[in-house]
Amino acid sequence: MTRCPVCGAEAFSYTEFLYETPYFGNVVVSTGFCRSCGYRFFDVDYAESGNPTRVIFKAENGEDVSKSLVVRSKTGSIKSPDLGFSLEPGPQAEPFVTTVEGLLYRALDYAESLKALEPESARRVDEFIEEVQRAIDSGGFTLIVEDPLGKSVIIPRRPETVRIEPLGST
Ligand SMILES: [Zn+2]
Repeated sequence: MTRCPVCGAEAFSYTEFLYETPYFGNVVVSTGFCRSCGYRFFDVDYAESGNPTRVIFKAENGEDVSKSLVVRSKTGSIKSPDLGFSLEPGPQAEPFVTTVEGLLYRALDYAESLKALEPESARRVDEFIEEVQRAIDSGGFTLIVEDPLGKSVIIPRRPETVRIEPLGST
């Protein structure tokens, strides 16, 4: 435990994870949490970076889905044209690290809450849920991660499932 930068209590735990990635070199993900005031810290950093990037990831099977990681910084957007969802970085955007599977479960949670809010679109939402569940089991979809600061990445189980483009080209 160290001193919390917000409330000053000796209740701040800080962890750094190192990921080796085929395209970005070593990615350092730092997270911190204060047990006293609840302050959370998160940052992503790596050696060669800073350029606007688009990461295109094709999940070809269930293992690609469960064993590839998504690192999203505050400025990253994630979309899947195949599955029909997108996650834009709002002003309250929380950075996160999760598996692709975890990301799809988030989309499912969101769909469930949407169904409660808009019962009239329940049938369409059910179709979406079915499609996402199929995607979790067997892949067969594309994820596109765009970040103007180049801080959001996908760390794939198999390097050949990821392609990186400079953002701004088509
Ligand atoms: Zn604190």
